[in-house]
Amino acid sequence: MTYEAVIGVEVHAQLQTQTKLFCACSTSFGLPANTQVCPTCLGLPGSLPVLNQRAVELAIRAGLALQCELAPSNQFSRKNYFYPDLPKGYQISQYDLPICGLGWLDVSVNGSAKRVRIRRAHLEEDAGKNLHEDQKDGSGVDLNRAGTPLLEIVTEPDLHSSDEVDAYLKALRELLVYLGVCDGNMEQGSFRCEPNVSIRPIGETRLGTKVELKNINSFRYAREAVEFEIRRQQEIVEEGGTLRQETRLWDVHKGQTAVMRSKEEAHDYRYFPDPDLLPVQLDDAWIKDLSGTIPELPGAKLDRFVREFGLPEYDAKILTESKELADYFEACVQAFPQPKTVSNWVMGELLRELNQQGLGADASPISPERLVELLRLVEDGTVSLKVARDLFPELYASGEEPAQLVKRKGLVQLSDDAQLGDIVETVLAKHPAQVEQYRGGKETVLGYLVGQVMKASGGKANPGKVNALLKSKLSA
Ligand code: ADP
Ligand code: MG
Ligand code: ZN
Repeated sequence: MTYEAVIGVEVHAQLQTQTKLFCACSTSFGLPANTQVCPTCLGLPGSLPVLNQRAVELAIRAGLALQCELAPSNQFSRKNYFYPDLPKGYQISQYDLPICGLGWLDVSVNGSAKRVRIRRAHLEEDAGKNLHEDQKDGSGVDLNRAGTPLLEIVTEPDLHSSDEVDAYLKALRELLVYLGVCDGNMEQGSFRCEPNVSIRPIGETRLGTKVELKNINSFRYAREAVEFEIRRQQEIVEEGGTLRQETRLWDVHKGQTAVMRSKEEAHDYRYFPDPDLLPVQLDDAWIKDLSGTIPELPGAKLDRFVREFGLPEYDAKILTESKELADYFEACVQAFPQPKTVSNWVMGELLRELNQQGLGADASPISPERLVELLRLVEDGTVSLKVARDLFPELYASGEEPAQLVKRKGLVQLSDDAQLGDIVETVLAKHPAQVEQYRGGKETVLGYLVGQVMKASGGKANPGKVNALLKSKLSA
């Protein structure tokens, strides 16, 4: 029997606010343990939560971009459970009335389009962090992260392979970063995912027993964990076993998933509306204002780059992966309207340097203006393409004016007919055998002679002119 995988994904995206969801503590990452806490996020008796308006705004932005139905009135609930990193004994989350309802995200999977339905997205607070390493006695708890605002985005079980999961996660992260909703930093845990995986015989429409893979913070681990889990489940079913609904963890070192706990049900959490927080009423005018601030999104930008600039889809995809890079490209094209030439330089020379340093295009030491100056030098024949390419790393590092650097290094392309003529004559005089061969009909030696002239000129000769000069002298 053959099986298909069925996968739904939950993503926890940290919202880019200065302060926590229900108190004024900072959300900065990496400060000493328990230095960003107050009675509210410590869960001390008598403290009261006050909702962060900016977090609601970011959730609405995400909801709008994901085409979600926004709930005019939504509600916070308490999700009750005990764990040392949760001092209140409950997490403030949304349950039956999430802020964002049904929506979708279109993604491209190996070149074909796929629509992934969003089931819901809700606001909730993060928990703290248990510390097990470098503690003198036992374990510690760091509550700096407790109360940090998260948006949990949940898909329908629409995905069927690790490729689809990968494409969805990357598209969602890119979208949230574009929107300024989330910084997308996976190492710091700002974007974490939980794939829910089940299998079923092909043709079956009911869902199989699912396993939830907890807290994965890299695209690669998500892919590996999903692939492992599909294989594991298939093997169990093929051997006549039964699957258990459970939560499993991805073990990075062993490359396998392992049971964390058997799956709890919603009723185990005894959800109930938080009596300290009023329902959140979304004002129509506010939503309208916010929809006016949604920038052009990655998918639309990609389509436009293909349409407007005539770029191959491959180029457009790379250039629109971040808003900063897309802006950089457009600034160049505005000043130098040859999109494919600009694209080659940006995707090649520029990205190579930026990636090496892990920089975004907005932090590029070479500005779009400077890059365009270099392209102009190539276009008007002042330098050869090869010289320009070779110079790029130095320009990138120094930020110097391209024309100045070219002059300083004596790299101006040699296009003067008289000067080139002299070099050509010298080369011809030195290679009588090749001249003979050419005149005897072996035209391929021309390339060799061009090479010799280029060498003699220190790489500065204008190759087009050299070609023409050689031909005319050889046929004279
Ligand atoms: P839970 O309450 O356990 O978190 P939900 O029903 O809320 O489960 O679904 C959580 C995620 O799991 C959603 O993305 C959903 O699409 C997905 N999902 C639900 N059932 C299955 C299943 N049988 N196989 C794969 N994914 C599933
Ligand atoms: Mg879940
Ligand atoms: Zn606080």
